[in-house]
Amino acid sequence: MGKTTTSEKLAIHGGTPVRTVPLPSGGHGVAEIGPEEEQAVLRVLREKRVFRYSEQSETAQLEQAYAQFTGQKYALAVNSGTSALICGLAGLNIGPGDEVILPGYTYIASAAAVIAVGAVPVIAEIDNSLTIDPADVRRKITPYTKAIMPVHMRGTPCRMDQILAIAREYKLAIIEDTAQADGGRYHGRRLAGLGEVGCFSFQASKTITAGEGGIVVMSDRQIYERALSAHDSAFGFWKPGETVEPIPGEGFRISEVSGAIALAQFGRLDSILRRLHAAKYRIIPQIRDLAGIELQDVPDEEGDASVCVMFFAPTAEKARAYADAIKAEGIACGTMYNKEIPDRHIYPNWEYVLAKRGRTPKWSPWHPSVYKGNVQYSKDMCPNTLGYLGRTIHIGINQRFTEADCDDVAHAVIKVVRALN
Ligand SMILES: *Cc1c(COP(=O)(O)O)cnc(C)c1O
Repeated sequence: MGKTTTSEKLAIHGGTPVRTVPLPSGGHGVAEIGPEEEQAVLRVLREKRVFRYSEQSETAQLEQAYAQFTGQKYALAVNSGTSALICGLAGLNIGPGDEVILPGYTYIASAAAVIAVGAVPVIAEIDNSLTIDPADVRRKITPYTKAIMPVHMRGTPCRMDQILAIAREYKLAIIEDTAQADGGRYHGRRLAGLGEVGCFSFQASKTITAGEGGIVVMSDRQIYERALSAHDSAFGFWKPGETVEPIPGEGFRISEVSGAIALAQFGRLDSILRRLHAAKYRIIPQIRDLAGIELQDVPDEEGDASVCVMFFAPTAEKARAYADAIKAEGIACGTMYNKEIPDRHIYPNWEYVLAKRGRTPKWSPWHPSVYKGNVQYSKDMCPNTLGYLGRTIHIGINQRFTEADCDDVAHAVIKVVRALN
């Protein structure tokens, strides 16, 4: 720390790189897989308990843990994050004719889930938090709007105070997509616990994982019952004790093997989060006032799930120059939006959404027989979103970063920005 001078020659210009050993990287939960997960799988196999509806169900324990953790009354584990979103939307009674507002920067699955229930995704801008812009949400509300889907992207808690206020004002439901921010908080409350519904993914790249899997949390009994039915076409047969009005369902049941792995991983979440947060917030103060960049505005730094550091360069061209030079210093890093890279996290690459393409011409949320609104899509419909993402530099954080690793990241950023600004 503090050893950077303006005279340091950049690696990209033939100078000595800040480091030559790559930083730890990759999935967080994946890297922590150990004896607990192995035991969980062996236990389930040896006891031949591969179905989740059994006496000693570990999936049921996972559900209890997530309900308590998020402060919601109920949780339903499913086979993916996408399934969690679909069940949450079905639980909220959202379907054909309805609109759901979501950000133009999220994994395409958020929009796909809305389409899967027959509803229309309405794409809103992000702001300098790189999460949904409350002012644009307000502009996108129509008589058909039923819900807002804030997505806590890259660990960042959305501006929930403003989003909740809009939802109250217009009587809209909130379904939080927390797939990328498991364990994050907003003003002390756990993400996924602020809205009517919250959804998580246990896919391999998420903070904790079961390979595949997901979970949806909610407090309203009716939402829960509809989600139960939606996740399993025969739900009533497995749990005859539950008085659930059957609605047509999918095949979204989670395997007990996955449930048991996810439960073991849940035991690691706190420690992963603590290490991620400590690493990120060792770097942030070192670069916060650096001239030539502006940090992403994280609406609650305390609650940041801290999977990356993101900051803005003054222009997209400068962002690419910074990123190339930081990479040359031995720090893995990239820009966020590039027309040549079809990143499925950015709306211009959501091909079937922009084309309003259903599975068949009549099986389409945009079919005039069901949809009376007039949502319009185009590749340049959210200029702020593309503007922010074009200027963003992203550096992944890993829970195995040492303090020296963190200081190398800060050092490389300072060295490059001072030289190229
Ligand atoms: C991963 C992800 C999903 C989907 O989760 P799957 O388990 O892959 O279905 C949804 N939304 C976001 C923001 C994600 O990152």
